[in-house]
Amino acid sequence: MIIFKSINNLKKKVNFSKNIGFVPTMGAIHEGHLSLINQSKKKCDKTVVSIFINPKQFNNKLDFKNYPRNLNKDIKLLKKNKVDYLLLPKYDELFRVNLRKKIRLKNKDRILCAKYRPGHFEGVLHVINQYLNLIQPKFIFLGEKDYQQYHLISNFIKDKFITRAYLCKTIRQNNLYALSSRNKLLKNKDLHILKSVTMIIKKFYFSLKKEKKNVKNLGHTKMLLEKTGINLEYLEIRNKINFSKKISKGNFKIFIAYYFKNIRFIDNF
Ligand code: AMP
Repeated sequence: MIIFKSINNLKKKVNFSKNIGFVPTMGAIHEGHLSLINQSKKKCDKTVVSIFINPKQFNNKLDFKNYPRNLNKDIKLLKKNKVDYLLLPKYDELFRVNLRKKIRLKNKDRILCAKYRPGHFEGVLHVINQYLNLIQPKFIFLGEKDYQQYHLISNFIKDKFITRAYLCKTIRQNNLYALSSRNKLLKNKDLHILKSVTMIIKKFYFSLKKEKKNVKNLGHTKMLLEKTGINLEYLEIRNKINFSKKISKGNFKIFIAYYFKNIRFIDNF
């Protein structure tokens, strides 16, 4: 694995006529990230992984400060998984170029995480724009765990880049809570809360799949969730394709964001 500390160096060294797969991450690598890497290795000749904890994505300074960081362990894991190139870009390289047009979300997209974390997706899209301009991968691999992010990135890049977004399914702990770097901030004894939360949402998901009218149980589900001790930010049912509130039996997703021990978690079913 070759490590680059600048996108420009990566650009000089890598043969971009090859079919490149790109996996952007914020590090603290886990099996969820590795599943994206495996997909990339299956579909592409070379795989580039980036690790960059983007401060612009955090609307809370403490959240940024506490975000898990373990670069040495990440490097070992990525080498073991035969990643070709690791990119560790610097803040200045990604942000010094002022984009001629500042990235703004459309009003209709200011929902779910975009509503509760102002500036978050603008930060994500800024960095993705810089990466893709320079790397021009064939595919960018994204996890379903961050489904709204996938939706916004795939729409953003559609007419702008040759790159296509490839959605990879969420990797879960024993079929329950989604693996996430932030899980590492919890003590083992606290992980059962994530299990309880997931079980409640899964039950609601299956009842909705069976009968659309069970949407009326949203309020009851919120109440059950709050009883677990979490601080619920949102629980919403949205159309899986266009994110409107018009759903039918098969085309919905349930989105959740909550705080537990002051750590923010998201998931969707
Ligand atoms: P992050 O490092 O959390 O920014 O995530 C980097 C990429 O990995 C994003 O595309 C995430 O959606 C994806 N990802 C994170 N957790 C999981 C998971 N449990 N299963 C699948 N993909 C994931």
